[in-house]
Amino acid sequence: MEYGISTKCLYGNGEGSSTDKSGAISFPIYQTATFAHKGIGESTGYDYSRLQNPTREQLEKVVSSLEHGMDALAFSSGMAAITAMMELFQPGDHIITDCDLYGGSIRLFDNISKKNGILFSSVDCSAGDLREFEKLVGENTKAIFIETPTNPMMNVIDIEKLAEIAKKNHLLLIVDNTFLSPYFQNPLTLGADLVVHSGTKYLGGHNDTMAGFLVTSSAEIAGRLRFIIKTVGSGLAPFDSWLLLRGIKTLAIRMERGEVNARRMVEWLRREKKVTKVYYPGIPDHPGHEVCKKQARGFGCMVTFEVETKELAHRILKDVKLIHFAESLGGVETLVTYPITQTHADVPREILAANGVTDRILRLSVGIEDTEDLIEELERIFYV
Ligand SMILES: *Cc1c(COP(=O)(O)O)cnc(C)c1O
Repeated sequence: MEYGISTKCLYGNGEGSSTDKSGAISFPIYQTATFAHKGIGESTGYDYSRLQNPTREQLEKVVSSLEHGMDALAFSSGMAAITAMMELFQPGDHIITDCDLYGGSIRLFDNISKKNGILFSSVDCSAGDLREFEKLVGENTKAIFIETPTNPMMNVIDIEKLAEIAKKNHLLLIVDNTFLSPYFQNPLTLGADLVVHSGTKYLGGHNDTMAGFLVTSSAEIAGRLRFIIKTVGSGLAPFDSWLLLRGIKTLAIRMERGEVNARRMVEWLRREKKVTKVYYPGIPDHPGHEVCKKQARGFGCMVTFEVETKELAHRILKDVKLIHFAESLGGVETLVTYPITQTHADVPREILAANGVTDRILRLSVGIEDTEDLIEELERIFYV
């Protein structure tokens, strides 16, 4: 029998609950770099923390169970995870990406991966018609890399449909699942091969720790990634692994409350005259609403909106107090982000314009506060 998702947040599938003899309920922090051997060939299974550490291993089991993977690997940040993932590829390999991606991923692909000989094409994968997409597939094409919903424009991509094309063409389908978290969406069960998380966001959940994950359903990929993590050395430290374990315990209740709050904020923003557009996949006339409903258990806690003037956008960023003007997302505190100068500052202007990321676009990561307080603050700023 498999545990339900809220139970998994505490125990994973139950395999590796604390083995500590004291009966500690909280999994111990194995703050050690190395492990003693009884004799030659008598490893305890742990040799050196760059390779594996019991606290990191427990975290990996929990995340793997949440994503229905066969293995998960914990890294020192989301970007460390994506950087390690790129080591699966060789110079000359071609990867197709969606056109709307996290700015840090675009920066990595454009400045580091291209230098290492990887070729990229980007295309709008949220378009219903994927024929344009198939035209890009060549002999050297190895993978598809997407996020859904996308950041910051909330475009939704049909994971199952893309997985079919990936299978047919022998491509890996890689999905960055940071925005919905495993609580709302499990790409591996929809046919993806590899899932990426910035654990800094919903998994950690408290805006206090950096972490990243790769989760896979393939033993072959897991083996290659295990070799990469021990070789490049970007695995998550024991204490940070413990902070993530603690954060994940409340993932279910944080996501539930965050989504209720996000829906309330969306309702209010849609009634507000100075707000010209609201992007949230939970809105029935959002172009990706039906696909998101089909492939996810919720619409998440991220809301993007456009205000009538650039000046108002700037006033909001300057005058918020309860809501913080800060990069990042996925924590208990509501944050507002200005994609054009923050998360997407390094993305070429023409790409931003094509995606609709203007100087009037703001992104909210809705936290777990009383929404009345959030709304009161925005109303005060809107009508000074
Ligand atoms: C934040 C983020 C990343 C990068 O993760 P870090 O933990 O900041 O390195 C990758 N993808 C998405 C969608 C993100 O939001």
